[in-house]
Amino acid sequence: MTTPPFDPVSERDIEIVSAQLGRPARGVVGIAARCVCGAPTVVATAPRLPDGTPFPTLYYLSHPAATAAISRLEASGTMAEFARMLADDEELRLGYERAHRAYLADRDSIEHVEEIDGFSAGGMPVRVKCLHALAAHALAAGEGVNPVGDLALTRAEWSPAVCECADYTVR
Ligand SMILES: [Zn+2]
Repeated sequence: MTTPPFDPVSERDIEIVSAQLGRPARGVVGIAARCVCGAPTVVATAPRLPDGTPFPTLYYLSHPAATAAISRLEASGTMAEFARMLADDEELRLGYERAHRAYLADRDSIEHVEEIDGFSAGGMPVRVKCLHALAAHALAAGEGVNPVGDLALTRAEWSPAVCECADYTVR
């Protein structure tokens, strides 16, 4: 049994995440990465939402500046480039498969949900479909776990070490 890499979630975290998303945050079980200022950057969501819906995306990038930076990468053809790199580089491919298994292990340690068994996120283990999901996993797990997510973070014009947060005065 592994311990998933995230902090417990506070009411204030939920308020900030809801402000970031522009809708009430649902099923949040932890904060998997934070900005240097402490604001959530990646939320961990329950594998089954309160209404019973299976939810495969354990790690979700909630931070608007991070999300925008990753969207710019996706718009500039980076997913196709990373897919070519996966095709050409066996070490990267094996690392990506390990990332897939690590993702599933983290999620199963919260709750095993049969409907999404074997499905992780972002296109893992063989495709590159969503850099937001891959970057979120890389931020949650730390460098060296998701090599494609690490690459996306290296390329993105955003860093968790520089606060670009809005003023979350939502009280
Ligand atoms: Zn911040």
